[in-house]
Amino acid sequence: MFKKILITNRGDVALRVLRACKELDIPSVVVHSTADADSMPVRLADESVCIGPPSSAESYLNIPAILSAVAITGADAIHPGVGFLSENADFAEIVAAHGLTFIGPEPRHIRAMGDKVEAKVTAANAGLPLVPGSPGAVHTIEEALLISAEVGYPLLVKAASGGGGRGMKVAETANNLKEAFLAARAEAKSAFGDDTVYLERYLSQPRHIEVQVIADSYGNVVHLGERECSIQRRHQKLFEEAPSPGLTADQRMHIGSIASEATRKLGYLGVGTMEFLYEDGEFFFIEMNTRLQVEHPITEEITGIDLVREQIRIASGLPLSFTQDDIKFTGHAIECRINAEHPETFMPTPGKVTAYHAAGGPGVRVESCLYSGYSVPPHYDSLIAKLIVRGDDRTHCLARLRRALEEFVVEPIPTTLTLHKRLVEADAIKDGNYNIRWLEEVFLKEQ
Ligand code: ADP
Repeated sequence: MFKKILITNRGDVALRVLRACKELDIPSVVVHSTADADSMPVRLADESVCIGPPSSAESYLNIPAILSAVAITGADAIHPGVGFLSENADFAEIVAAHGLTFIGPEPRHIRAMGDKVEAKVTAANAGLPLVPGSPGAVHTIEEALLISAEVGYPLLVKAASGGGGRGMKVAETANNLKEAFLAARAEAKSAFGDDTVYLERYLSQPRHIEVQVIADSYGNVVHLGERECSIQRRHQKLFEEAPSPGLTADQRMHIGSIASEATRKLGYLGVGTMEFLYEDGEFFFIEMNTRLQVEHPITEEITGIDLVREQIRIASGLPLSFTQDDIKFTGHAIECRINAEHPETFMPTPGKVTAYHAAGGPGVRVESCLYSGYSVPPHYDSLIAKLIVRGDDRTHCLARLRRALEEFVVEPIPTTLTLHKRLVEADAIKDGNYNIRWLEEVFLKEQ
């Protein structure tokens, strides 16, 4: 097992990883920017090293500063968490070249899945069903028009390096394909420094359903069921549940075995998530995330598996501590993302939290770095807390969620807590009858 793990992340993610380190009795180091000097992970880690000013480029993405922190502290493994350097294949290679362990998949898998065009080719070879679209990157508007004649409208122009829902534009008809094509390229260039785009049929009413997989270095692969993540705004998830209210037990095992078979064919190592759109009984692969997901706790709640602990064990060369047959799905879990954002305008609301009270009681789990007196910095992602609730079944889980939301206090900054309180009262949520369009096209319009 590792001697010391250095965590290159912040906020609730850094906290999640260092909790797993403590439970495994592995000393932890967190690196942090000057803006996070007073943060919970810095207070709770065994050691901390300031690696730069607030801007992520100069701190959490600053590879030379991170390697200096490794040299100072003598860490032998790096956990990248979620976001930042977690899907940076070059970083994973540099880490290995320094004789350290990158707690994540091999660089070749990060690279293959990081380029969505390559990811689709890799996925198709591994037997996964794809959304109809261009066979590869599309470089000119003429090429896009030719492909559109085969695939049909509406079409989605997507960035090959895309993430976080950016670099994606819809073309309703041939008349606005050029506009969507140019806009997606421009957004992709400015967000990711790469203007490569590809085309996909724009599915009209799909659900976003993703499968959690985990693999060790001995060829053992297990799937941990699915998460339903259709409640999205601007392609960003806000509310997730497991299992999906849209699948039967047979469909669950079907997509789970397709995902684990593909994972095996890829020779993948560690935790990963295969994302699918699901419409009219059919699954279409859209991408694979080669890291832990923000919404991983709901899977942990219904399977009893600690994904971060398992991720660290696998990276240290140990085999998986369970088989597929050991996995039993029990009950229902929901996660609400509490963001420092105005619940109606979604404008970021950084600032000082003078009163914080986390919900508690049976079946309630909170992943957050908040405390009363903490100032939410303006420099990073607006996620400040995840409220995860587990119940015996979906109805029980929703009842618990309702009361947990009532108990939860974050003041005075506006947050999406207010939005979640309204959301749990909506019939579509109560019935589990929603898709990726519902939040924006129905719920938010009615508010
Ligand atoms: P990102 O990496 O930016 O998150 P994804 O490919 O995972 O991009 O897609 C994010 C979301 O965008 C999906 O959950 C879905 O809501 C929507 N989306 C992506 N592809 C399609 C498609 N072909 N048709 C309809 N919606 C899509």
